[in-house]
Amino acid sequence: MAALDHAAPTVTALQAPWLRRAWEPLRALRGRDAHAILLHGAAGIGKKALALEFAAALLCEQPRADGTACGACSGCRLHAAGNHPDLRVVVPDSLARLRPLPASEGADEDAPVPAAEGGADEAGGERKEKRASREILIEQVRALFDFAHVATHRGGLRAIVVAPAEALNAPAANALLKLLEEPAPGTVFVLASDALDQVLPTIRSRCSLLRVPAPTWDEAQAWLAQQGVADAAEALAANGGAPWPALDAGEEAEAAAQLRQLFVGLLAQGPRLSAEEVAARVPRTLDTGSALRVLARWGWDLAAAQSAGVVRYHRTHAAAILRLASTASLAAVVRWLDEISRHQRSAKHPLNARLVLEAAMFGYLDLWRESQARS
Ligand SMILES: [Zn+2]
Repeated sequence: MAALDHAAPTVTALQAPWLRRAWEPLRALRGRDAHAILLHGAAGIGKKALALEFAAALLCEQPRADGTACGACSGCRLHAAGNHPDLRVVVPDSLARLRPLPASEGADEDAPVPAAEGGADEAGGERKEKRASREILIEQVRALFDFAHVATHRGGLRAIVVAPAEALNAPAANALLKLLEEPAPGTVFVLASDALDQVLPTIRSRCSLLRVPAPTWDEAQAWLAQQGVADAAEALAANGGAPWPALDAGEEAEAAAQLRQLFVGLLAQGPRLSAEEVAARVPRTLDTGSALRVLARWGWDLAAAQSAGVVRYHRTHAAAILRLASTASLAAVVRWLDEISRHQRSAKHPLNARLVLEAAMFGYLDLWRESQARS
């Protein structure tokens, strides 16, 4: 079962003022004992994050006066770790691994990553990589039947988040309908949808509907800036005014910048760089494509420095690149660039990410070994 994404949101949805406006109506629905709530509204405004926040509040063992999760009790800690046994989050496989797991404060980097239900072995991971479905499939919903009909682990409610609800394919939607028609006591469903008209009408009619308001442009921009997105206006415009994808893009850009800095720092050492340092500093998981692109650009700079005395990509490191270029052979650099592009073609498999990068970095060290051997 690779369908359950336990990853908790990295951003507190209720810090977004427009989502905060939906909180009281959401609580009121729950106060009227709604057992299935369908959040709908514009795409990319954070409905799924709100659904997860609401689920956190339902599972919180000491909620605050305003009904929000306390963030400190055992239930909240399990939720934050993406590990609450009474929560299921059902998303299409194609979205399940989109966000990295949150690096909670003080978390041990070596702590086991909460696996998807049923264990995500390597073969399963590979399968998922190849055929990640954009639909929510019937197996994912069937897996909820047992979950919904055994006693809860922590004696409280049980929450099921389904997003986006329009991604349920027909068999999955019909299976979910059965669950909604005969709700197990203590079970709360929170569905989110960008496209209400694409949700099975019988599912819609079983749910209490709540429209989540969209932010104003200024509100979304101010919120993005608060979250640390460098150019909030630009990020928002690039994502058509949708703050959540803009935030994701900002986080990706930040991660890419850190990766670039790390590799440039290693590459700039040239022959002084040791294999031990490469092994110690190449991260265990990384975006192979971005990292290889950094290496390739560094290689092109070396080659251009050797052949024409110019540095195009890493101008702030021009002096170091010109110095390094004077001690490695052009033929060796060109061979290394070939090696990089070979890795780029075969680097689709994320499990090999670190091996690929280490191999490419060791190849870089050989640039000087060859010229030293010859001289
Ligand atoms: Zn709590």
